[in-house]
Amino acid sequence: MQSNNSLSGIPITAETPKASMRLHWQRRALQWFTIAVAILIPAAGLFRIDPMAGAFVVLDRQIWWSDFFLVFGFWLVLASGAVLLYSTVGTAFCGWSCPQNSLSEWANYLTQKLLGKRAELSLDGEKMKVGANKNKWSNWAILGISFLAAAMLFALIPLFYFYPPAVVWSFIAFQQDARLAGSLHFIYFVFVAVIFLDIAFIRHFWCRFMCIYKVWQHGFKTQHTLHIAYDSSRSALCEKCNYCATQCFLELDPKSTDIYDTCINCGECITACNSLQAKQGQPGLLRFKIGDRDATRFALLKTRLSSLSSRVHWTMPFALLGISMFVWGLVSYERFHLAVYRADTMHGPQISDYRVAVSNKIYDSAVVDISVDGLDSSLYQFDLAQARFNDVGRIDLQLHIKDGLPPGIHSFLVIASAPDGWQDRYRVQHFVASK
Ligand code: SF4
Ligand code: SF4
Repeated sequence: MQSNNSLSGIPITAETPKASMRLHWQRRALQWFTIAVAILIPAAGLFRIDPMAGAFVVLDRQIWWSDFFLVFGFWLVLASGAVLLYSTVGTAFCGWSCPQNSLSEWANYLTQKLLGKRAELSLDGEKMKVGANKNKWSNWAILGISFLAAAMLFALIPLFYFYPPAVVWSFIAFQQDARLAGSLHFIYFVFVAVIFLDIAFIRHFWCRFMCIYKVWQHGFKTQHTLHIAYDSSRSALCEKCNYCATQCFLELDPKSTDIYDTCINCGECITACNSLQAKQGQPGLLRFKIGDRDATRFALLKTRLSSLSSRVHWTMPFALLGISMFVWGLVSYERFHLAVYRADTMHGPQISDYRVAVSNKIYDSAVVDISVDGLDSSLYQFDLAQARFNDVGRIDLQLHIKDGLPPGIHSFLVIASAPDGWQDRYRVQHFVASK
C-alpha cells in the first residue's frame, strides 16, 4: 500500500498514441548517436591507440604511460563520473547506449520481420518458431546476408582505434600500405566471425548471462537507483494483459522488477503500456522512478536528495583530484623525450659509447639539436648532430667518448633543445677504468 501512496502523488497525464512512442524514439536516437560517436572519436583524431608505440593518441599527440598525470587524472574523472552514473541510473547505459544491445535489438527486429513474430531466439530455451508462410530460402538468405553485412561493417569500427582513417581506407580498398599490420586481414576476419555469431545466435544471452560490465554496474545499484515503478492501484487493468512483458527483450515481468534483476532500464515496457492505455485516453501503469521503491512522496524526495548528496560527497573529491591531475598533465606535457643509455657495443670493461634516444610525440616533422656540456668537444663525437623527424617516432644518436680522459668518474650533461624553446638534460656518469 505504501508504494500506492507514493505513486498516487506523481502527476499523471495520458498521452496520445503517437506521443507515447516518444521514449522509444529518444532511445533509438541515443543508440545511433552512441554508434556515431564511437566512430567519430577515433576518426576525428580525438582518441586512438598507436600499437607500434604502445601509446594513446589524443589530437595527434602521443600520451605515454609515463605521462602519469594525464593518464591517471583522466581515468579518475571517468571512474568518478561512471560511479555517479551507475548509482543514479543503474544499467541504463545497457538499454540506451550499448552497441551490443542495439545490434541484438536490430537482429531481433529483422528476424521477426523476415521469419515471423515467434522466430525470435528465446532466453528460456524455447524453440524458435518460424512462421509457415515466411519459411522461404529467400527470407533466410536476406537475414544471413544482412547479419554478415552488419558484422563486416561493425568489425571496421575497432580498426579506427588503431589506425588513422586514411590507413583504414587503404585496408578497405585493398591498397598497399606499409602502416598496415601483415596479419590485419586475419584479425578482421576473426572480428567479423565473432560479431556475426553474436548477432545471429548470442544477442541478449550476452546481456543476461555473460556481460561482466553489467555485473560491475550492478555493484553500484541501490534501492534508490532508477527502476521501473508499477501503479498497482490499477492492477485490474493487467488481468487480461501481458503486453509489457512480451515487449521486454530480457523476458522480465516489468510489473515486478527487482534491484538485482537483469532489467536494463530501456523503457520499452513503459512505451508498450503507454501506447496501450493511450488508446483508452488513460496513462500507462509503468514509469521510471529514482528513489526508494516503497517510499511515500515526501520520503521519496528526502531519500533522493540525501542519496544523491552522499554519492556526490564521496565521488567529488576523486573527480576534483582527477581534474587537477589532468590539467597539470596538460600544462606539463612535453612534446619531446630524451633518454641516454649505455650502447650495446663494449670494448672490454670500458664503456665508450652511449645511445642518445630522442622521441617526438607529435605526428609532425621536428628538429632537435643535441650537445654535451661538461666535456671538451675534442673528447666526444656524435654520429649525428641533430635528430630530424619527418613524423612521430624515436631517433637514436650514437655518442662516442674518445680516449684521453684520466681514470675515474666524469660527469657530463647531454642536452637536447628544440626551436620552440623546449630543452631537456640528461646527466651521465662516465667511468674510465685505469689501464
Ligand atoms: S502493458 Fe500495462 S496494462 Fe498490460 S500488463 Fe503491462 S502494465 Fe499491465
Ligand atoms: S523490464 Fe522494461 S525497462 Fe527493464 S529491460 Fe524489460 S522492457 Fe526494458
